[in-house]
Amino acid sequence: MKTIYFDNNATTRIADEVFEEMRPYFCELYGNPSSMHTFGGQIGRKIRSSREQVAGLLGCDPIEIIFTSGGTESDNAAVKGTLAASPNKRKIITTRVEHPAVLAVCRDMENHGYTVVELPVDKQGHINLDQLEEQIDDDTALVTIMYANNETGVVFPIDKIAELVTGRGIVFHTDAVQAVGKIPLNLSKSNIDLLSLSGHKLHAPKGVGALYVRKGTRIQPFMLGGHQEAGKRAGTENVPGIVGLGVACELAAKDIEEESNRVKYLRDKLENAVLEKCPDARLNGDKENRLPNTSNISFEFIEGEAILLMLDKYGICASSGSACTSGSLEPSHVLRAMGVPFTAAHGSIRFSLSRYNTEEEVDYTIEKMPGIINRLRELSPFVTK
Ligand code: PLP
Repeated sequence: MKTIYFDNNATTRIADEVFEEMRPYFCELYGNPSSMHTFGGQIGRKIRSSREQVAGLLGCDPIEIIFTSGGTESDNAAVKGTLAASPNKRKIITTRVEHPAVLAVCRDMENHGYTVVELPVDKQGHINLDQLEEQIDDDTALVTIMYANNETGVVFPIDKIAELVTGRGIVFHTDAVQAVGKIPLNLSKSNIDLLSLSGHKLHAPKGVGALYVRKGTRIQPFMLGGHQEAGKRAGTENVPGIVGLGVACELAAKDIEEESNRVKYLRDKLENAVLEKCPDARLNGDKENRLPNTSNISFEFIEGEAILLMLDKYGICASSGSACTSGSLEPSHVLRAMGVPFTAAHGSIRFSLSRYNTEEEVDYTIEKMPGIINRLRELSPFVTK
């Protein structure tokens, strides 16, 4: 049975072009970029060119890119590195809908005497900018707000938020793990100080990512050791991963508008048909300001996990929340923060598409969904017949 993969916010397949470029860096070009010999030196040059490719996608200077092990490390480094660089300030402002890679670190900082403000969101998944402004004070070291939500795809007005926050001695970080490669970003026209991205969300391998650090932003290194990454992130570089990330960024930059329109067409076709054909289904999150690939739909009175299992029988992969929270019976913290009723939050499914999905796959899923939902409703103890 063919696999239909609609779980691209969890992870993506490596693009063929990315894999081919990485291949020689395992067994042939395996030198250490810090070595004095020519064999290692050529690797250093390749890393420089990968850095340029990443910077090209983001519209920043290559020296502002630090390679990391992924989104989680970039988020941790941004939060902890900023706080360490501003020891006299004790307040962090974030949102209730961040990924655990940000929320868990912020909450941990509470154990170290920091005040953490988690801004609420409305039904659409948006924060209130007046509330954000009210919370900003002289004690605020960091504001960290995600670019796009991993569960709903809701895109925050990050450039506007960055403008509001910066220029007051406060660092502004955004977790852009889900946005990079899916929507165009231009850091040369933004006030963002720090931005996290992850390779495996944009057709590069797992275990590589980057942190953008605007020139002049005060941040203490998170990983201590050798002098790699201009002393900002110690540890021998994940060369094949970095090479892969560079190519993936170049590929994404090449046709981001065209690809995002094509993926949006498929997502909308799937979403509209499911909402139309399945009774008591509702879309979660702002319909307009959303990633082009993501659709989060709640089906009242049934379990998301049961829908996933039935989809799985047809070879269709989706998700009932973020990859990190599924496996727990708690409804998603994102949907709860948006006030999605308990009965609907439990029955939520996320479809997340990529450039590799086809219309045929969408049509097949549209054909299967109503039968799955009707069957589960018949079995549901919450539905009165
Ligand atoms: N931030 C967001 C918004 C994510 O969706 C994820 C992964 O799902 C992460 C951070 C963590 O990234 P990584 O898996 O590269 O550590």
